[in-house]
Amino acid sequence: MKNAIVWFRKTLRIHDNPMLIWAESSQDFDSIIPIYILEENWSHEKTGKLGNNRLSFLFDSLLDLDNNLKNNFDTRLQIFSGDPCEVIESILNTKDSKVKSLLTDYCSEPGSINDIFQVTENLEKNDINVKVFPAVNTILDIEKIIKNKNFKLPKSTNDMEKIFNDNHIIGPYGNLIDGDLPTPKKICSDSLFVKSIKKQKHISNFYIPIEEIRERNYQLKLEVGFENSYFLGGETEALKRLEKKISERPDFVNSFRKPKTYSTNEDNNPMEPTTTGLSPYISNGCLSVRLVWNECASIQNSGHTKPPESLHGQLMFREMFYLLSRSVENWDSDIGNINCKPVKWGDYDEEKIRAWELGKTGFPYIDAMMRQLEATGWMHHLGRHAVSCFLTRGQLWQNWKYGRDIFERKLIDSDWAVNNGNWLWLAGVAPFSMPYYRVYNPCPDKKSSLNVETEKATFIRYWIPELSLFPSKYIFEPNLAPLEIQKSSNCIIGEDYPFPIVDRKNTRKENLIKFKSNIKQ
Ligand SMILES: Cc1cc2nc3c(=O)[nH]c(=O)nc-3n(C[C@H](O)[C@H](O)[C@H](O)COP(=O)(O)OP(=O)(O)OC[C@H]3O[C@@H](n4cnc5c(N)ncnc54)[C@H](O)[C@@H]3O)c2cc1C
Repeated sequence: MKNAIVWFRKTLRIHDNPMLIWAESSQDFDSIIPIYILEENWSHEKTGKLGNNRLSFLFDSLLDLDNNLKNNFDTRLQIFSGDPCEVIESILNTKDSKVKSLLTDYCSEPGSINDIFQVTENLEKNDINVKVFPAVNTILDIEKIIKNKNFKLPKSTNDMEKIFNDNHIIGPYGNLIDGDLPTPKKICSDSLFVKSIKKQKHISNFYIPIEEIRERNYQLKLEVGFENSYFLGGETEALKRLEKKISERPDFVNSFRKPKTYSTNEDNNPMEPTTTGLSPYISNGCLSVRLVWNECASIQNSGHTKPPESLHGQLMFREMFYLLSRSVENWDSDIGNINCKPVKWGDYDEEKIRAWELGKTGFPYIDAMMRQLEATGWMHHLGRHAVSCFLTRGQLWQNWKYGRDIFERKLIDSDWAVNNGNWLWLAGVAPFSMPYYRVYNPCPDKKSSLNVETEKATFIRYWIPELSLFPSKYIFEPNLAPLEIQKSSNCIIGEDYPFPIVDRKNTRKENLIKFKSNIKQ
């Protein structure tokens, strides 16, 4: 049988998967070898790059993909770790491999682009055809758009609407996006060959048996606590969440206004987002972003909300960051990045950054958000606004890149283009940033634009059990509570819960002055 390697990168699904559709109809090969290559070295106990939740979400997703491949096409996902060129070479060197093509999804990160460049160079020498499928993890074909001679760096959803309209047919309730392809029915896989791969001696350096993934995933979940694994990775969960949060709720979709959603999650469940909570599934490719777009379009009525506040508006922001990350040089840096004003941030302050990361700043709203991130790997968008503003231009005057790195490691929806874009936005340094003088109060009241449930303060009590008996009146700024109240609430500030690490009002004032003088220079 002639084989094609299908290299799953950011498309951990079988629905709306152009690689599988192609494989079904191709005349060049008649069997697929589905593979995934972990970035990290498997033999290392822990990776610095992926935190426990992020890794566990990825493992859930791989296990689910393996299951879906097994149930639908009677084949199994082959998982490897190591340098992609070496891994692929080792498959080619397997006896009777007969590989004719390699199919993979386009990924925009510089490292991924480099991988494809090298793999293609190697394979073409061996007369093996490499096909990279664009617009699988995004709605737009990123490379095609940025190469258009009329392309200008977008700064808003207005700019994005124009790009969408120029590239997609406009329907009555939003642009119609091609695709969301059906799951193929007739994919073949030479199961004997696929089985023989793992038995090859020269592959054993790279090959990871699926049972090992399952075992390590279980250990990770033990470490983070099963109750904190609220978001289970994988396509199966993704499709269930899509149904529950979007398909079954036309009113929610039609009236969706992102800035009005509560940052402190659902009243009856401190884990459940008031937004869709689909980001981890979209980022890991367990859910097709085109399917999400089309699902919203199909239930929108004439009165639906519009970008930037609507759900389509949120997806446009995502596309905007993908376009920018591929067209702005040094996107992830504060040097040589035309989308980043030069600001002289303070020296790295380990104590402050540790307090921020661990949720021990003495500001309960900030701490609850950061503890939620640590425990579950997710945080509401407005919570992300508050903690990133606090770390940078708000209170701590630290470089946004320190926070960006911590988010990158911990977020289960971690995405290079989007994470950097949002940090640039919130640090106030980008052309698309909010005005730098709009600083969030880290001790929000019920009128705050952070949309916080302040009456029962369930979210704060859940994530900061030290304050669980505190009266709501003082819970957002507990250091202001009279000692009698602290005693009767079983929480003495400075002993059971920290004093604020900075004076929020003074630091805000000083930082505004510094920011203004930095951008003037
Ligand atoms: C400092 C900071 C860092 C961030 N890092 C990431 C990241 O690494 N990965 C990530 O996916 N999102 C990131 N975001 C954006 C945003 O917070 C999340 O996408 C959103 O909270 C996910 O929740 P949801 O799926 O319920 O979103 P919904 O409001 O339901 O939106 C639907 C989808 O739209 C997309 N989306 C929503 N908001 C944004 C946005 N501002 N930018 C780009 N796409 C968006 C997501 O794919 C999301 O799933 C970051 C925001 C900030 C302020």
